[in-house]
Amino acid sequence: MNIIDTLLRPDLRGREPYGAPQLDVAVRLNTNENSYPLPPAVVASIEKAVSAVAPHLNRYPDRDAVRLRADIADYLGYGLTPEAVWAANGSNEILQQLSQAFAGPGRVALGFTPAYSMHPIITTAVGGAWIEGNRDRRFDLTVESAVEQVLRHRPDIVFLCSPNNPTGTALTPEVVTAVVDAAPGLVVVDEAYAEFARAGTTSALDLLVGRPRLVVTRTMSKAFGLAGARVGYLAADPAVVEALRLVRLPYHLSTVTQVVARAALEHAPLLLATVDAIREQRDRLVRELTGLGLDVAPSDANFVLFGGLSDSSGVWRSLVDRGVLIRDVGIPGWLRVTAGTPEETGEFLDALRIILNGES
Ligand SMILES: *Cc1c(COP(=O)(O)O)cnc(C)c1O
Repeated sequence: MNIIDTLLRPDLRGREPYGAPQLDVAVRLNTNENSYPLPPAVVASIEKAVSAVAPHLNRYPDRDAVRLRADIADYLGYGLTPEAVWAANGSNEILQQLSQAFAGPGRVALGFTPAYSMHPIITTAVGGAWIEGNRDRRFDLTVESAVEQVLRHRPDIVFLCSPNNPTGTALTPEVVTAVVDAAPGLVVVDEAYAEFARAGTTSALDLLVGRPRLVVTRTMSKAFGLAGARVGYLAADPAVVEALRLVRLPYHLSTVTQVVARAALEHAPLLLATVDAIREQRDRLVRELTGLGLDVAPSDANFVLFGGLSDSSGVWRSLVDRGVLIRDVGIPGWLRVTAGTPEETGEFLDALRIILNGES
């Protein structure tokens, strides 16, 4: 062990950092980004907004991002006020602040695996204990199973993910409300992919009234196509927001980030116009992968999890060799692919067909 390893917190020794490979290939369908670049009208608004604040970057930003939170509340609807909304550098920072305030040393967080890999990483990074709950063999989470696991572990935070990454399927509102009723602590519903959900899917935003322990997190990284700007947010009881102000770093959200996010929200309908095209490619992936005889999880997100592969890591590597990067999420036999443009999606499907033909 080198000297730094001996100085590191013992609970962090030997851990792996978050590490989706960043490879320079033609078709990148591995991190669920939006494949479409920002439209020129949005770029122009962002340029104008950044120019307007640039001379004033000698000053710190608005610590409480009041105007951005008002714009997010307006965008979300559901009668939300700015006091019920909080923003940070990606929803990952939101999840970290929630964990700092409500979990941490001596406390316990529960998630239902397979789910978003950052939930355990953030929980343990802030010194909390992670309990890996489970789903059934088809990745479903029933009311009975979720409630039983919550009652057994009595966690300080429950992480739900709906639509769930990496499986793609949204939770029913019955599961969310049953977990809130059973849990002694905070229940965080990570809705990073909410905008892609199939018609008739209920958002947990619709369940907030009368449930002060329910928190809904969202992001501008996926449907809005703004992953590079790092903007995430939550909606919750205003008391939750007040608690996060105890742990956030002062001026955590830069002036540039705040105005970029506001400029993008002004164009929300234009930016979200890509959602329908992406959903079409998502449904095409489900259809064509099923047609290839593969096992496909139903998706409410901008990605599809497919299984039935005898050598999933071999298939992943063969795809990279053909210039197509998708995600090996560590479930043997399964891989996850993001719905891209029609061309990217087609290139993935063509490459996969060739590889599977060679395999058999
Ligand atoms: C992509 C993703 C996020 C988004 O993280 P940001 O920090 O907002 O970019 C959050 N939760 C889940 C489940 C995700 O897949």
